[in-house]
Amino acid sequence: MSTPKKHFILAMEGVSKAFDGFRAINDLNFYMDEGELRVIIGPNGAGKSTMLDLITGRTQPDRGRIEYGGDTDLTRLNEYEIARLGIGRKFQTPSVYVDHTVEENIWLSLRGGRGVWSCLFARLRPADRDRIHALLDTIGLADRARRKAGTLSHGQKQWLEIGMLLAQEPRLLLVDEPAAGMTDNETERTGELLLSLAGKHSIVVIEHDMVFVRQIARTVTVLHQGSILCEGTVDQVQADERVKEVYLGRKKKAPATVA
Ligand code: ADP
Ligand code: MG
Repeated sequence: MSTPKKHFILAMEGVSKAFDGFRAINDLNFYMDEGELRVIIGPNGAGKSTMLDLITGRTQPDRGRIEYGGDTDLTRLNEYEIARLGIGRKFQTPSVYVDHTVEENIWLSLRGGRGVWSCLFARLRPADRDRIHALLDTIGLADRARRKAGTLSHGQKQWLEIGMLLAQEPRLLLVDEPAAGMTDNETERTGELLLSLAGKHSIVVIEHDMVFVRQIARTVTVLHQGSILCEGTVDQVQADERVKEVYLGRKKKAPATVA
């Protein structure tokens, strides 16, 4: 038996993107293993969200290659084709159907966005019901299943939206600042959720909150001016003089809350 060739879930090579002459992403090289949970930090304007835009096809790179799963060049595909390959993105603001119940929201995603009305009149198949319950357990909202999504707290809405993404069984999940606006307790539970999903999915998390980063991060990538400044454990990047310089503009003080 031959051993399957190891590949990166994501390999970005020599990727650049300029907006009106400003290089938001500058000869970026980024590699991630399948099943990894990778945290990306970096000061405002470092290019973090643009990086996700390039992966998801929302923005086209000026040059470079973005390889997914070892064999697909994403730069040749449009946003819709990329989503169909199993790349799910969670934007910062939650977008759920507030007038529908939590379980209906998950159901709508399970049915691949076939429309609210077709769902309301369709019968819930037992297999769907099991899957909805399993997803609600995963995101910790089983006891809220029959509540309208509009009654959820900000953090709970974020979890619901993660559940809606999971319903589509993404292979790669991109999450932009999930802890923003959450209470400390919600932040910690979000960390536990993401940790429980790692391995089953490959996950990129962009985050500001260093307590949260410390909770979830194995490997942290620091982005600065569109390129990788350094990569390593939380301790390694926090001790890195270049990182301190970038965040604080001076060398003495350690970044307590960076990003
Ligand atoms: P981050 O998420 O790290 O804060 P962004 O990726 O949002 O940074 O932005 C990086 C830089 O690129 C910023 O200077 C931003 O103004 C610019 N930028 C991002 N998207 C666009 C766009 N669609 N058009 C023009 N400039 C953009
Ligand atoms: Mg951003």
